[in-house]
Amino acid sequence: MRSITKSSKLANVCYDIRGPVLERARRMEEDGHHIIKLNIGNPATFGFEVPEEILQDVIHNLSAASGYCDSKGLFAARKAIMHYSQEKKIPNVQMDDIFIGNGVSELVVLAMQALLNNGDEVLIPMPDYPLWTAAVVLSGGVARHYVCDEEAGWLPDLDDIRSKINDRTRALVIINPNNPTGALYPKALLLELIEIARQHQLIIYSDEIYDKILYDDATHTSIASLADDILFITFNGLSKNYRAAGFRSGWAIVSGEKNHAEDYIAGLNMLASMRLCANVPSQFGIQTALGGYQSIYDLTLPTGRLKRQRDVAWELLTDIPGVSCYKPQAAMYLFPKLDPKIYPVMDDQQLILDLLLEEKVLVVQGSGFNWMNPDHFRVVFLPNIDDLKEAISRIAHFLHRYRKR
Ligand code: PLP
Repeated sequence: MRSITKSSKLANVCYDIRGPVLERARRMEEDGHHIIKLNIGNPATFGFEVPEEILQDVIHNLSAASGYCDSKGLFAARKAIMHYSQEKKIPNVQMDDIFIGNGVSELVVLAMQALLNNGDEVLIPMPDYPLWTAAVVLSGGVARHYVCDEEAGWLPDLDDIRSKINDRTRALVIINPNNPTGALYPKALLLELIEIARQHQLIIYSDEIYDKILYDDATHTSIASLADDILFITFNGLSKNYRAAGFRSGWAIVSGEKNHAEDYIAGLNMLASMRLCANVPSQFGIQTALGGYQSIYDLTLPTGRLKRQRDVAWELLTDIPGVSCYKPQAAMYLFPKLDPKIYPVMDDQQLILDLLLEEKVLVVQGSGFNWMNPDHFRVVFLPNIDDLKEAISRIAHFLHRYRKR
């Protein structure tokens, strides 16, 4: 019989956060092993539950949510997103500029499918959240990775960006706040990125899904608030800030210079229509999430538990000989570096598989975020302090043995 093969379009698409090592961890769990998971940024599973008011609004509206809605989303939810974009000082956003999707994930793929012809290039940070690279490749495009500089607090290297622009370059992606590094971009840098986009007529896609998870009094600036003469698409959603990843609710806001982008926007509209609409029940949570200053605001701040966990995890990891790490200003991840002189790792997927097998701790290898060298891994600091301490002491034991090999 002829074997059934996957599409060649998937040949270079990868998403290692849920890759083969996770599969192995699953099998180990089935065999009765307990694994400490520091691999997926899924707040609700670590006791960061969705705020009750959001949940109640979704439940209350369930009976009204059984039909399709407008392809772009419910009116009230989009209105709330429009107000949110005003709060973020993003100019020139109308109701029609807002697309609600089944998470940011769906909208990223949709935005790339609508844009790219085969061989078109998109500038993507390295390390990245790998969905971006996968979406570009799946859409026939070429992901051109620009370096984010660890020595400079993981900020994008502007010269590297400039050196990678050519006449096939269509867009620049930024992830701010960043997954996996926890970097938060200052306004001066955002202005320089805008200048590059302006000179080369690039669209700026800005993934801001962690814009409320900030530490040490940091503030977040939406890049789209800083100019109106280029096209921006800003992504956000309920998954992280509102701890409702399972609701699968995200949005994209089109802003800036839309007049020259009518054809592209028509493409976005068509793809949004083809999938009819996003999950309707969870859209009833959006207005409450974005508008509920009194009830929701405190819950979105990572004061207390999440900040303490960041501090403890960062201190314990950087206490391990040969491990250094930028202290994140935002989000829920640490991206530690293993000194290659002490840990001459050749294959970082094998390294984290060995860690899993030997210590029953699951993290994600740096190459899963398209990082160029096998010398980083990502740790999610959502588990409680006791679990983090236990997991990091196991990582320390593992690395101690690794040094002696
Ligand atoms: N963007 C970034 C930077 C993420 O880290 C994630 C999830 O981890 C997503 C997008 C996906 O978001 P959603 O749950 O809205 O699909």
